[in-house]
Amino acid sequence: MADHAELIIAGGGLNGMLLAVACAGAGLSAIVIDRQDPAAMTTDRYDGRTSAIAYGSRLVFDGIGLWPAIESEAEPIREIRVADDDSPLFLHYDHRELGGSAPLGYIVENRVLRRALFDRAAILPSLKLLAPRAVGEMEASDTGAVVTLEDGARLRTRLVAAADGQNSPLRRAAGIGTVEWRYRQTGIVTTVQHERPHGGIAVEHFLPAGPFAILPMPGNRSSIVWTEDADLAPHLLALPDAEFAAELRTRFGDFLGTVEPVGPRWSYPLALMQAEHYAGRRLALVGEAARVIHPIAGQGLNVGIRDIAALAEIVIDARRLGLDIGEPSLLERYERWRRADALSLAAVTDGLNRLFSNTIAPVKLARDIGLAMVNRLPPLKRLLMQHAMGVLGDRPRLARGEPL
Ligand SMILES: Cc1cc2nc3c(=O)[nH]c(=O)nc-3n(C[C@H](O)[C@H](O)[C@H](O)COP(=O)(O)OP(=O)(O)OC[C@H]3O[C@@H](n4cnc5c(N)ncnc54)[C@H](O)[C@@H]3O)c2cc1C
Repeated sequence: MADHAELIIAGGGLNGMLLAVACAGAGLSAIVIDRQDPAAMTTDRYDGRTSAIAYGSRLVFDGIGLWPAIESEAEPIREIRVADDDSPLFLHYDHRELGGSAPLGYIVENRVLRRALFDRAAILPSLKLLAPRAVGEMEASDTGAVVTLEDGARLRTRLVAAADGQNSPLRRAAGIGTVEWRYRQTGIVTTVQHERPHGGIAVEHFLPAGPFAILPMPGNRSSIVWTEDADLAPHLLALPDAEFAAELRTRFGDFLGTVEPVGPRWSYPLALMQAEHYAGRRLALVGEAARVIHPIAGQGLNVGIRDIAALAEIVIDARRLGLDIGEPSLLERYERWRRADALSLAAVTDGLNRLFSNTIAPVKLARDIGLAMVNRLPPLKRLLMQHAMGVLGDRPRLARGEPL
């Protein structure tokens, strides 16, 4: 019997939709299934986060021709200033130090990314979105896979991508184990309006409870990612507006003049998770189904975007050669390609969070000296900047801005 689609994607979050749009844009037939209603997922009330999109991720959006739909609402990051609590020493990244005119990255509201992806999905003839509907289980064999939805519908395919988030039901059903722990921290997210322009400068203050990030948005607005102790966060989130604003201002400072919270308050429990494998039988894990990292470096979505760029390239190349896209050797290649990048980011973000959420004097002194040293070593600094921009390593075509 014929397949319903060559690729079935469980989960229509940012990673699932990006994979669908990339592959269907190159002619592959794909079905995305999400348990949420897309109309609800694109409203202002669904996700208050912005994403720091690394320059390398912008190239992926370029490669699939989606950047023009995003660019007008993306704020370029020209500089990053990292400051340790009350220490005068700080690390300063400036895009001009790399020579070219490219910014370090962009701040984009997640709702803008989601809207652009759903709009593109709606006009791709080989892409079908089934939502709100939920994936129940999958069975894989040497010849293909069958996905059963919770409403009983059965869909045949070659390959299943689990883009079903941190608690990925498909990852669990496939028996793929994880290493995970919760940080005793909550990410409080909101938007502020300030008197003076931010000049495209992103600021990260390392406070004892965790990083407090100020991310430039279009206009005199910034997105706040405020990492707070998990016990204190509910109290802060429940404060009346004036008291919440006062708490926020003590952490923000007055370098941009008067600061006023203008958006709703959102909260996200923070965790680290690594799946033991990124692939199973006719199954590839992408995005947060494969791993979750601390938002300290704003890299969670970027690492997922690199999963998508790698998997899409492997699948599309195999299809052009007439191969079965769910074949084990292709999935092994995907896993090998993605593992080192993802593991090193998990280790770096976890290490940074531990190092900076520490008030012991010698630790604080050592990290301040470390920051100052990086600042004075231009080659090391350039390397770290390029790493954060996602423009190093064995990059898939899309991550070089080339079409699939
Ligand atoms: C506070 C905070 C700030 C962040 N800031 C940044 C940043 O600046 N830069 C950056 O790169 N990253 C950032 N991240 C990380 C980034 O937001 C996530 O990595 C990304 O949103 C994960 O997307 P996803 O598509 O993998 O998963 P999800 O968004 O979790 O999507 C999973 C989807 O699967 C669906 N689903 C689940 N089960 C089923 C099922 N059985 N059937 C059908 N559908 C199902 C769900 O409905 C959902 O839509 C941040 C994270 C946090 C917490």
